[in-house]
Amino acid sequence: MQVEILDALTDNFMYLIVDVATNTAAAVDPADAEVAVAAAARLGATITHVLTTHHHYDHAGGNNQMKKLCPSVEVVGGRGENVQGATREVADKECLQLGDAVTITAIHTPAHTAGHTSYLASAPSSSSAVFTGDALFVGGCGRFFEGGPEDMCETMRRLSALPREALVYAGHEYTVKNLQFALEVEPGNSAAQQKIQWAEARRASSEPTVPSTVGDELRFNPFMRVAVPEVRAYCGAADDDVTCMRRLRNKKDNFAGSSRPWVPGGGPLPGL
Ligand SMILES: [Zn+2]
Repeated sequence: MQVEILDALTDNFMYLIVDVATNTAAAVDPADAEVAVAAAARLGATITHVLTTHHHYDHAGGNNQMKKLCPSVEVVGGRGENVQGATREVADKECLQLGDAVTITAIHTPAHTAGHTSYLASAPSSSSAVFTGDALFVGGCGRFFEGGPEDMCETMRRLSALPREALVYAGHEYTVKNLQFALEVEPGNSAAQQKIQWAEARRASSEPTVPSTVGDELRFNPFMRVAVPEVRAYCGAADDDVTCMRRLRNKKDNFAGSSRPWVPGGGPLPGL
């Protein structure tokens, strides 16, 4: 199994998951259909599936064009999500096959949208990879447009249960700002400190900060850490996960971030 990272729009990621033995591919959120199809052609791969995480235009908006360019493509979306051009809706834990070797498992990951779905791709002798759209970002999560903190707690429980080494491919390049917030929540989190320095260097050379791993996210992503005492304390001594998640998301929604690089011991970053 091979994963190609493709840029779309301003800060979106699209992906191709390729079954190398058969040269068949699934396009994840191909908002720019021409770019996705050209990338597949460059690899000599045929796109058989579109995997749509959710209905927002910057993820699903290329689906009709994908059907024009690849007439027999299966367009997959979560149950009830009503994504553009869907030919198949999948429920939590439903599987589909890509080529000979790759199994795709749908994971219902609501809160950003009600039917938001992540896709776990697994193949023998490859690391598994999860495509999380706007549910889980590197160091953060998506806004709660069609769900609440209880939904995001369930989403994070499902994603936390994946193998630690599973690669995480998110829907946007929001890593630096997310980690600025993570360090406001937990200033002493050394995993977040190291990750933001790495991410700033990657961005300075226009390199993406995906993939992450489930194990790394558990170490520095505050939305996966709502049971951790420091995170609970930052959220006004929240005494349960859902309350902590609600307050954490509210604080992130009002977090301005900074255009200045993070420096060790530099104190809080001023807003933009
Ligand atoms: Zn979205």
